Amino acid sequence: MRYVSTRGGAPVRDFAEVLLAGLAEDGGLYVPSAWPHFAPADWRALRRLDYPALAARVLQPFIGEAIPFATVEALCRDAYRAFRHPATVPLIQLGPHLFTAELFHGPTLAFKDFALQLLGRFFDHVLTARDQHLTLIGATSGDTGSAAIAACHDRARLNIAILHPKGRTSDIQRRQMTTVRAPNVLNLAIDGTFDDCQDLVKAMFADAPFRAAHHLSAVNSINWARIAAQIPYYVATALALGAPEREVAFAVPTGNFGNVLAAYAARRMGLPIVRLVVGSNRNDILARFLAGNDMSLRPVEPSLSPSMDIAVSSNFERLLFELVDRDAGATAAIMRDFRASGRMAVPEAAWRRARRLFFGFRLDDPGTEAEIRRLATQTGYLADPHSAIGIAAASAHPAGPGIPMIAMATAHPAKFPDAMERATGQRPPLPKPLADLYEREEAMTEAPADLAEVESLIGAFARKNSRPEPPTRNSA
Ligand SMILES: *Cc1c(COP(=O)(O)O)cnc(C)c1O
Repeated sequence: MRYVSTRGGAPVRDFAEVLLAGLAEDGGLYVPSAWPHFAPADWRALRRLDYPALAARVLQPFIGEAIPFATVEALCRDAYRAFRHPATVPLIQLGPHLFTAELFHGPTLAFKDFALQLLGRFFDHVLTARDQHLTLIGATSGDTGSAAIAACHDRARLNIAILHPKGRTSDIQRRQMTTVRAPNVLNLAIDGTFDDCQDLVKAMFADAPFRAAHHLSAVNSINWARIAAQIPYYVATALALGAPEREVAFAVPTGNFGNVLAAYAARRMGLPIVRLVVGSNRNDILARFLAGNDMSLRPVEPSLSPSMDIAVSSNFERLLFELVDRDAGATAAIMRDFRASGRMAVPEAAWRRARRLFFGFRLDDPGTEAEIRRLATQTGYLADPHSAIGIAAASAHPAGPGIPMIAMATAHPAKFPDAMERATGQRPPLPKPLADLYEREEAMTEAPADLAEVESLIGAFARKNSRPEPPTRNSA
């Protein structure tokens, strides 16, 4: 499988190269040069497989020759071993045709574990074959950083440095990052906001000599491999509810558009997905786009669902590329103009095309709290604020009689104890492996929001850990 940039100005690459590159050099995002296709018999053949085996089969056409199939299968098995539920993605029925798929049984209790646990292993495999090391850097306001650290701390070829805004993440989210004790993990508590952290990461990538000296790569959701690794759970849940003979629909609480884009990919592969409902909080650029083709930037405002607090969804560019019939020149022009004007001029025909499949839904904080309470009292189900928006979105836009609607539950309610307590009076307990999180010792390095200072800390860290021979694995 070959990958092309949505803006048409970067080299064509294979899966391993796209994994290592992240963003394309022309500022675009890598997408498969053609969508693989599964016939109904191919989907049916997946039904008898457990989740790791199914994931390997779904991923195989995207990986192609880059990693041998037996290795992909072994890496999938290893990645999903740490998930706490025997079904990996359990389905809960909430109504006659309403289901929720729980994506939060991984090590950090959010759906990002699905992609990052696998990516850490893919990186290790590819880097070992090339005898290279990589230093992953990222800025986080919570979930991405903890999922990335959990995925990389035991990978021999990777160092990971995560910048978080000091005092501005939740206790649980910070502790999930800072209590992982491994020599290849650096937590930087930056004196500043999340935007300061993100600017520092961008500036480090723009510093070409620094980037090359320490083999920097990014752990953000623009990496194609992350999208690919999210496709299998759409397949598994659709098959469980009757696909390919039966049509299905999904509702997805959305931020950067990475999760719902994987559902779109599954549809392009031939899975009969007839509707995708995109849930947003008060940061509703996607809902405004789908309602009236208004994709205009507004300042980010904090909400009860912080992982969906975005000004713009970076992965939307991949959908835009499809909506304009894969015209890279048009995509590049629209994105250039968006950057300059703060308003994305999506052609009318492309917007209409999006509306045939996608529905938008917006829920503010009081609405989210009310939905959590309603679910708890009417069904006994505890949904975290992100998942509650997904379930409300699913209820608001059912796909039609008899078509199962599956709301993706993206975080465990125990990650948001304050919001849960306000809505339901209960603080959900952390699941077993994390039950002692508050007793564990934290380690982090404080730093000012200053590029030279942060580069010197990360430089020293990367040098210390990138010995020519791989460091021994620790089992923290
Ligand atoms: C990251 C995240 C989201 C948003 O997912 P995107 O792929 O960025 O759209 C939603 N819910 C939770 C809990 C998350 O961690």
